[in-house]
Amino acid sequence: MNKIEIENLNFEKLFDEKVIDRTVNRLAKKISKDYEHKELLIISVLKGSFMFTSDLVKKLTIPCEVEFVKITSYTGTQSTENVFVQTLPDRERLLNRNIIIVEDIVDTGNTLNYFLPILKQYNPTSIQICTLLHKPEVFRYDWHIAYKGWDIEKEFVVGYGMDYNEIGRGLPCIYRQKEK
Ligand code: 5GP
Ligand code: MG
Repeated sequence: MNKIEIENLNFEKLFDEKVIDRTVNRLAKKISKDYEHKELLIISVLKGSFMFTSDLVKKLTIPCEVEFVKITSYTGTQSTENVFVQTLPDRERLLNRNIIIVEDIVDTGNTLNYFLPILKQYNPTSIQICTLLHKPEVFRYDWHIAYKGWDIEKEFVVGYGMDYNEIGRGLPCIYRQKEK
């Protein structure tokens, strides 16, 4: 399927399964090397990154633990400044850990900019960010993204965990909204 429609919005394929697989492999390889002798805790940001996280941890060649936080900021096709963290792991799970936050997409950066100081209060040893997609054109901050799949344009995407009004998360490929 190269074209799909969700609630009257039209989308076209941006990344197919092969490209996604290669990208996740590349990121997993780098993380496995960088964290070879460190105790790694992956914190996956729900809901969008559930599929990416699951593929990523399958491909890691080092042990890791996984936690989930639910952070919401998006409504429809727009990022909002109203960020909510709905679940947080217990304090002792984060203390002295080497954390990688796994995101589906860093857009404006509002979500992680809100979450990073909260996480720092838990005194982890280190925090890095891994995101499958990034929109540098609209990114507002200067923190470093250590592991990044692809830069994309200022466009709305669905699939591979990402939704439009909760639809489309199960699609194995990533689609972008077509210009009207
Ligand atoms: P930010 O706070 O960086 O602007 O946006 C972060 C969150 O908004 C992402 O984790 C993701 O869940 C959602 N998001 C950002 N861009 C898109 C997009 O193009 N499509 C979808 N489905 N979600 C997005
Ligand atoms: Mg997300």
